Amino acid sequence: MLYPESERVTAVKHRLLSFMDRHVYPNEARFYQEAEELGPWKVYPTVEELKPLAREQGLWNLFLPDSEHGAGLTNLEYASLCEVMGRSHLAPEVFNCSAPDTGNMEVLARYGTAEHQERWLKPLLAGEIRSCFAMTEPAVASSDATNIESRIVRDGDSYVINGRKWYTTNATDPRCKICIFMGKTDPENPNRHQQQSMILVPMDAPGVEVLRPIPVFGFYGVPDRASEVVFRDVRVPASNILLGEGRGFEIAQGRLGPGRIHHCMRLIGLAERTLEKLCRRAASRVAFGKPVSEQTVTQERIAESRIMIEQARLLTLNAAHAMDTVGNKVAKTEIAMIKVAVPNMACQVIDWAIQAHGGGGTSNDFGLTAAYATARLLRLADGPDEVHRNQIARQELRKYSNK
Ligand SMILES: Cc1cc2nc3c(=O)[nH]c(=O)nc-3n(C[C@H](O)[C@H](O)[C@H](O)COP(=O)(O)OP(=O)(O)OC[C@H]3O[C@@H](n4cnc5c(N)ncnc54)[C@H](O)[C@@H]3O)c2cc1C
Repeated sequence: MLYPESERVTAVKHRLLSFMDRHVYPNEARFYQEAEELGPWKVYPTVEELKPLAREQGLWNLFLPDSEHGAGLTNLEYASLCEVMGRSHLAPEVFNCSAPDTGNMEVLARYGTAEHQERWLKPLLAGEIRSCFAMTEPAVASSDATNIESRIVRDGDSYVINGRKWYTTNATDPRCKICIFMGKTDPENPNRHQQQSMILVPMDAPGVEVLRPIPVFGFYGVPDRASEVVFRDVRVPASNILLGEGRGFEIAQGRLGPGRIHHCMRLIGLAERTLEKLCRRAASRVAFGKPVSEQTVTQERIAESRIMIEQARLLTLNAAHAMDTVGNKVAKTEIAMIKVAVPNMACQVIDWAIQAHGGGGTSNDFGLTAAYATARLLRLADGPDEVHRNQIARQELRKYSNK
């Protein structure tokens, strides 16, 4: 193994795998049914039932490298655990390791004041509340975050917030109590990267209105509670600003590195599980006198999937190692590379699995449609492929400038 697991991680993984077998997989069908019947505005009882069990077993907040608040694992150590969780849409929240809460908790742990941590981080770490992150806006191309137009205006001891956001994951969840909001405090600043700030907005503050859930490829709630939210003259104490005015980009960079790698780790788990489904289905169906698995085209796709998953895993472990050793900022190219490679790999593997399942692959019976939606949305969320590719290319070209 290129990156051998520590004894501690192997022990946790063992317990995690056993929890998945005993509690997660047997409850998946019920979870999907709840999501379908209850919709995006409700809490799903299966999740709430399993959370205390996971917590009791110490399978809780494993994502947080900060040992004061979380498990204190490195990114590399967390990678194989996160991959296991990614095998099921139900798992990440059961272990209090789901996006965007994980990224928001990291922000509060790193940049929040003692007061922010007491009021918001504590209940998030306890899994009592949820959170959202509001950056993207319907009116502007938000993959370029300097375009964000929402305003955060100082007024005495308060800030007044106005803006319309969409794709604010989690906002329809009744447990969602806190929003990390990005907007402009200094629109005239000649440095476009210092115009933006981030501020904490309680979801029950007057003027916050969750307008609608947004379906993701027709799904509501799972795999994503995407939402549209409007903020009209929302007033919050000035102390709710994170780090200070003009530091929104700095926080976004700190937040997005771990968030992106966690998405990739989970997708590798999802792709592994999908390949398993592909193989089982292809081996169990006979067409034109032989099992589908004996058609060379199927074998080719299975082999290609295995190669692609292994490549993606190694690239992701390499990025995790870089984040642990040189820091998120220096590891930005490694992070950008996995953010392109892994969702594209997962889309392809899931697409082949859908094909191998025949018509049934397009139903919700095999979990492949929700898996595809997850992989595909991640070619956009946390930055579209093109933006990451541009960044990788710029880094590459820099090697040859002035030479
Ligand atoms: C399910 C889901 C959940 C999400 N959750 C959140 C959330 O919780 N909070 C949040 O703030 N946002 C969230 N997002 C939003 C996501 O981060 C944005 O959709 C993404 O950053 C792209 O911004 P945009 O939608 O405004 O696309 P645009 O900026 O309008 O870009 C459209 C397209 O233009 C192309 N493009 C853009 N720039 C370049 C370039 N430099 N070179 C070449 N082509 C380019 C790309 O193909 C891109 O997809 C979520 C998105 C989805 C789909």
